[in-house]
This record gives sequence, C-alpha cells and structure tokens, in this order.
Amino acid sequence: MDLKRIGLFIALMRKEKGLTQKELADKLYISDKTVSKWETGNGLCDVTLMEPLCKELGITVNELLSGERIDDTEYKKRAEENMLSLALERKQSKRNILLSIIVGIITLLSAFTILMASGYYEMPTYQRIILIIISIVILIGGIYVVCILDYHSGTFECRHCKKRFIPSMGAYLMGPHTITTRQLKCPHCGKRSYCKKRLTK
Ligand SMILES: [Zn+2]
Repeated sequence: MDLKRIGLFIALMRKEKGLTQKELADKLYISDKTVSKWETGNGLCDVTLMEPLCKELGITVNELLSGERIDDTEYKKRAEENMLSLALERKQSKRNILLSIIVGIITLLSAFTILMASGYYEMPTYQRIILIIISIVILIGGIYVVCILDYHSGTFECRHCKKRFIPSMGAYLMGPHTITTRQLKCPHCGKRSYCKKRLTK
C-alpha cells in the first residue's frame, strides 16, 4: 500500500470538490490534523472512515486504496489486489506477535525446567554450573528472538502528532514499555511519549 500516493490522491480529490482540509475534516467529525496526516502519507485512513471519506470525495474505496481513478476493466483486478494487501499486512503483524508469544513461553519453560533439574538431581558441581549456563543462554536467546519478532510487527503511533513511525532497534530496545505502548522519541515532532503499537503502517 503506497501511502504517499494515496495521500496525494486524497488531496487532489478534495481540491476538486473545492473543500479545505478543515471542511473535509468537519464533515467526517475528525480533526484537520488527521486529514493532513493522510494527505502527507503519514497514515492510512481508519477502515471505519473509508466509506464516509470516499463518499465525500466522490470516489470508491478501491480507488482510494489504489491512489488513482480506475476504469471499469481494471476495477475488479485492483479491488482484489487491494483487499489482499490490506489483509496481508495485518496478518503478518499478527503472526509475528503470536510467534513471539509462543517463543517466549517455550523459552521460559525450558530455561526453568533445566534450572530446576540442576537443583534437584545429584550431580557434580561442574555439571550444575553447565546446566545453569545453558538455561541462561536459552533465556537470553529467547528474549532476543521475541524482541526481533515484536520489532518487525507493525509501527508505533506518536501521542502528540499521531504520526506513525518505525523506531531504530536501539531506541526500541532501550525504551521503557507496557504491553501495548513503548516510550519513544517521535521522528516527526521530536517529542517523547508512550507510543501506541499499531498493526498497520
Ligand atoms: Zn510526533
């Protein structure tokens, strides 16, 4: 999905209708900041707003997602492509998150089991130490994989300007976080906030 192209198309169609960003925003009961965000390609219109937006602009959802007017012969083909790419983007993110949860659980269970075994059974001290080291290595490896998977699923949304971005790996790892948010510096407005995780660009 080419957000820049979609944004330019929204701006073009809006101007064709003789509307300002503010006027279009008022019709959709949203802020003109949001319209500006779409038009600069910094976010895709929420699925629930697509139909009303298209109605105001006199275009179809299919045309919106393609970022251009489409004639009848091309129409069906494009509709299918657009639907697929939208669904695929979400699916990939979801799959990564699910995978990271599974890896996390397996890691914890196996590290814990080995650690318990090293304390429970009779064995020479050096074997105990080896088992403890193995469980630590498994733990670190597992956490690393979970972080990589999570990093590669979706984007983060700035609290202040609502723009979405992908942080650097360093900033991602160092940022304090909750399950759905992470403290990051927004590259668009430069402000630091607990950014919400989003599954799509
Ligand atoms: Zn920002």
